Amino acid sequence: MPRALKRWACIVAGCLLLTACTSLPAPSGAPLPASPDAAAAPLEERLSRSQAVPDERQAGSALEQPSAHQPAPPTGESKGRSSSASESLTLIGPPLPAGGGAKSLQTPETAQLPLSPEPPSAPVPEPEASVSKISASKGIKQAAQKSSKSQGLTLSQLARKYPEFLLLHGRSSNRQIALTFDDAPDATYTPQILDVLKAHKIRATFFLIGSQAEKHPAIVKRIVQEGHVIGNHSYSHPLFTKLSQDSFQQQITRSESILNPLIGYTPKLIRPPYGEISESQLLWASEHGYLVVNWNVDSLDWKQLSEAQVMRNILDHAKAGSIVLQHSGGGHSQNLSGTVQALPKVIEKLQGQGYRIVTLPELLRVTKGKK
Ligand SMILES: [Zn+2]
Repeated sequence: MPRALKRWACIVAGCLLLTACTSLPAPSGAPLPASPDAAAAPLEERLSRSQAVPDERQAGSALEQPSAHQPAPPTGESKGRSSSASESLTLIGPPLPAGGGAKSLQTPETAQLPLSPEPPSAPVPEPEASVSKISASKGIKQAAQKSSKSQGLTLSQLARKYPEFLLLHGRSSNRQIALTFDDAPDATYTPQILDVLKAHKIRATFFLIGSQAEKHPAIVKRIVQEGHVIGNHSYSHPLFTKLSQDSFQQQITRSESILNPLIGYTPKLIRPPYGEISESQLLWASEHGYLVVNWNVDSLDWKQLSEAQVMRNILDHAKAGSIVLQHSGGGHSQNLSGTVQALPKVIEKLQGQGYRIVTLPELLRVTKGKK
C-alpha cells in the first residue's frame, strides 16, 4: 500500500506542475495589460521621436487650415532643442522653455510663461458645437473603454472623435466671436488688456495659471469684477501629454484650489497648455464635468509680433463662431505690447463687420462654473 500511495502522489504532483507551467505568461512577445496611461503612451513616443516644426510657425499666420497639422521638415527653430516637449502632437507646437520638458515647468519657480505658444488647434468639420448633448457618464465610460484599446490620437483626431468634449469653435449660425487670453494673470499686460476691454465694454475669457493667480490675486479679482469669465489653464503650465494621469489631475485641482476662493466658482472650462491633451485626460475631464476648449484662430502673439501682425492673424481668419487665442501674460522678457495695441482695433473691426464679441460660455451655451 505505501508504494501505491507514493505512485499516486507522484501522478498528482506531476499534474499540478504541468498546470502551473501552462498558466505562466509567455516569456516574451506576449501583450501586456494596458496601463492607465496606455492611451497616452503612443503620444509620448511620438513627441519624443518628432523634431519637426511646421512652416506655419515661421510664417506667422493664423492657423486654421488642415495642412497646418501636417508634419513639415525641421527648421532651424527646432535645432538645438533637445526637449521632446516642444514638438507637439500636431507637430506645430510652439517652443517650450529651454530645457523644457513638462517636468521643468511643474513648479512655479521654473514656469516660464507663456512661451507658450499654444499650438493651433486641430480643425474639424463645421459642426454646430453643442455641449448640451454631452452624454451621461455611462457613454463616456464606454468611450474610455474603447479608447484604452486605441492608439494615441492627434488633436485633430481627438476633436473629430469627441466633438462634444474638445471644442475649437462655436456655432457658425450666430455672428458671435469669443476673445480668449491665456497665461493670465501677470502684472504688466493683463491690466492693460483689462483696460482696453473695459473701455470697449467687451467681456472676454481668461485662462488662468494657478501659480500666477497665487502671485496676483488682486488682478484675478479684477478680472471677475469686470465681468470676464475664467477658465483653468493648469497650475504650472506643463505639457499635459507628458504627465501621468495623477499629475494631470493635480494640475487641474491644485489650480482650482487657488482660483475658487478668488473667483467664487470652479471653472468648467479647461484649456490645456499648448493646447495638448491626451485622450484619457480628455475623457477624465469630460467625465468630471469639465469642458476642454481650444481655439480656431491663433493670433500667434506669443511670438512678440507687431500690432499689425497680430491684427492680420486675427482679422484674416475670424468668422462667425470663432474662438480667438491671444495671451495676456508673459515671461519676464516677453513683450506682448503688440497684443495690447492691436486689441482696440481688432474689437472695432470685428464689431464693424457685425460680430458680437462674447464670452466662451455665451458662445458655447454652457455655464462658466462646474456643477
Ligand atoms: Zn498657455
